[in-house]
Amino acid sequence: MSRMIQEFLEKTTNKVIPKKQSKQKAGLSNKADRTIKYCENCSYCWEPEYNATRQKSKCMILYYKDFPNYKKPREECPKCVNLRKRNTKIS
Ligand SMILES: [Zn+2]
Repeated sequence: MSRMIQEFLEKTTNKVIPKKQSKQKAGLSNKADRTIKYCENCSYCWEPEYNATRQKSKCMILYYKDFPNYKKPREECPKCVNLRKRNTKIS
């Protein structure tokens, strides 16, 4: 009987394997930093926020005012792109 318990304990303890998550977390933060872009049109840094909805089509855009933009890639933000599209359609 005691042998059975020992076997049971060995099986259950083997299942609990600690996962190494410190490396993954660091990679995610670096990736998030790289997605931030700078819009020269409205002088805002912006980035798409996929985590909020988990759907690309419904992604939110986060805006950062007074964000250090010296290393950020220049790209027009979706708000300015939409405004320009609307303006060109009317005129
Ligand atoms: Zn903009």
